[in-house]
Amino acid sequence: MNKKISSIRGMHDYFSEDLEIWNKLEKNFKQVLNSYSFEEIKLPILEKTEIFQRAIGNVTDIIEKEMYSFYDKKGNSLTLRPEGTVGCVRAIIQNNLLYKKKLKFWYLGPMFRYERPQKGRYRQFYQLGVEVFGLSEIDVDLEVILLTNRLWKILGINFDLTLEINSIGLQLDRIKYQKELVFFLEKYKSFLDEESKRRLYSNPFRILDSKNLNVQRILKKAPSLNNFINDKSLNRFNNLCHIMKTHGIKYKYNPNLIRGLDYYTDTVFEWKSNVIGSKDTICAGGRYDALVEELGGVKKPAIGFAIGIERLILLMRSKNVLSRKREKINIYIIFLGEENKNHAISLSEEMRDIYPKLNIFMSFSNFSLSKKIKHAVELSSRIVILIGANEIKKKCYLIKELETKKESYLFKSELILKINSIFKKHLSREN
Ligand code: ATP
Ligand code: MG
Repeated sequence: MNKKISSIRGMHDYFSEDLEIWNKLEKNFKQVLNSYSFEEIKLPILEKTEIFQRAIGNVTDIIEKEMYSFYDKKGNSLTLRPEGTVGCVRAIIQNNLLYKKKLKFWYLGPMFRYERPQKGRYRQFYQLGVEVFGLSEIDVDLEVILLTNRLWKILGINFDLTLEINSIGLQLDRIKYQKELVFFLEKYKSFLDEESKRRLYSNPFRILDSKNLNVQRILKKAPSLNNFINDKSLNRFNNLCHIMKTHGIKYKYNPNLIRGLDYYTDTVFEWKSNVIGSKDTICAGGRYDALVEELGGVKKPAIGFAIGIERLILLMRSKNVLSRKREKINIYIIFLGEENKNHAISLSEEMRDIYPKLNIFMSFSNFSLSKKIKHAVELSSRIVILIGANEIKKKCYLIKELETKKESYLFKSELILKINSIFKKHLSREN
């Protein structure tokens, strides 16, 4: 017997119910990003493995165990991108864009991480990424947060998301802090989970990000990174908190918030919801002032964030936002008798010429009339046009409005007027 074919674990197909929300999201993203003068950038899905190793940090989850890496036919190690920032930085360095005054980019596309699949956590998932290069002022941090806040408002989920924010200072601060952290955690070593034990000497800072509840309890008593951050960074963070308040942004200071990637400096933030369970971060980002130089460019401060599209869709679905029932088919065309098929096809083509915005379904099946009508109802069609020998002889069409059950025989010119009036709103919409 043939083995049933299936997709790769953690990689999903998306059908119209998801894509309906997805397309709305994309439309809103583009509108908001445009209003903040961002430009789209499209990047390759494959990059050389070494650029991720250089940028993300060797002891991070991503580099240690989540990358889809393989050798091509020439023996080069390539990786399916686990995130978009590194490729974006590579692109602006390679294309000599660093001299440009305005460097505000966004991209949307699939990312790949070999993780344990569960709700809100997949092996192929989509991110909307946003990156701003060139400015180190807190105003840019603020603007990026204002942008995300505006997006949630437009999507009607601003009350479901909480902003958590922290400053992780500079790398030097973190080195000093690590020593203290290790000293503290060594006392609790036997209570740590295997992963944290392993990280204790390779990259103890990452233990702060542990999702293990026992470890989180221990961390409550641990020294705080906040006490090791240099004055300039601390000042910067206090000023950022202050202007966020001025601009009406509510936030929660989370001293244990760090990001899963090593390249961040100073500001880090996450927008969290409690609807999806523990996989609750919808949007995460921060500053990465050293990354451009690290990857071979000039010194260029930068800040960015990424939104997990599937997690956002889960949240939108749980809220029933944007999920109003919509008619799927506008006009459903039925012919009665094989000899009348061509007449019906011509009408459907003519309708598509006149009404490119309408969704027209031509029924080719040889089911009975009642079965075809049932199908039209199942597809939530608005009107059915019936064409049989009788109609052709009389040069008219039988129109059924499925919701009101009204029926009328109309000449072509009357049919056009009728369609114009039924779909008036639809036809006047811009897109
Ligand atoms: P987590 O702590 O949940 O693993 P992360 O710190 O690895 O997240 P980032 O690398 O900051 O996540 O990615 C930004 C966003 O992308 C996340 O907040 C989330 O919404 C989404 N995301 C990350 N990994 C996945 C995944 N495996 N499946 C679905 N969405 C994801
Ligand atoms: Mg992760």
